[in-house]
Amino acid sequence: MIKIRDVSKSFDGVKVLDGLDLDIPRQSVVTVIGPSGSGKSTLLRILDVLEQADSDTVDFGDGPIDLTSTNKADIHAIRSRIGFVFQSYNLFANKTALQNVTEPLIYAKGIKPDEARRTALEQLDRVGLADLADRYPSTLSGGQQQRVGIARAVAVNPELLVLDEPTSALDPEMVTGVLEVIKQLGRDGMTMLMVTHEMRFAYEASDRVVFIEGGHVVEQGDPKQIFEHPRERRTAEFLSSTN
Ligand code: ADP
Ligand code: MG
Repeated sequence: MIKIRDVSKSFDGVKVLDGLDLDIPRQSVVTVIGPSGSGKSTLLRILDVLEQADSDTVDFGDGPIDLTSTNKADIHAIRSRIGFVFQSYNLFANKTALQNVTEPLIYAKGIKPDEARRTALEQLDRVGLADLADRYPSTLSGGQQQRVGIARAVAVNPELLVLDEPTSALDPEMVTGVLEVIKQLGRDGMTMLMVTHEMRFAYEASDRVVFIEGGHVVEQGDPKQIFEHPRERRTAEFLSSTN
């Protein structure tokens, strides 16, 4: 179990996250849903230390790590355990798909170039892009670029993969392929914390769904319970507003 505790964050005196707690069982997919502006992206950015929390610890089972730390070694330790897939693909434009996946293996993990290349090709194959390894991002579709982004995040073998609306920047016809890749990762036992506005996908791909609003967890449960029998009025209202 990965335990995230007491996440708080204010912007300009406005509390966006207010002592939020979250448990992510190993090898499970936890999906966070909630209204726009409810702090979902902020929560994920705090986990990757792209955003500085006011308070927050994460515990991978070997003791709490303080995410408010600005210590470089602490930040590196966290980032080496959490992989991040962004809304937009954030690939290096001047590097091929293969180079995009290979470089973090060499520079962040210290893996030898030959082995890094082999691992990167395996990961590109896993997301269905082995044939396009030598293409530059600008010659790939949005969906293909996002799959390269996923391969890059997964290649370094993170303990937790965090995905922030991985399909929201994609044309509708590209969404399915990316969702299939994510579902397969879940079936392969990757521990994931995901934010999505694709409720059908959340239903199908998640082991646990967490509804947040006002900086707190309002309700969480298995997808069937949340989507078919929400206990809280706010959850029901939110879900009826999404379809
Ligand atoms: P969500 O992803 O759930 O839509 P966000 O986490 O992006 O929500 O944002 C939560 C709130 O925090 C919003 O009101 C947003 O305007 C605010 N916010 C996010 N990042 C910043 C920032 N860097 N500076 C000021 N306000 C921010
Ligand atoms: Mg967001």
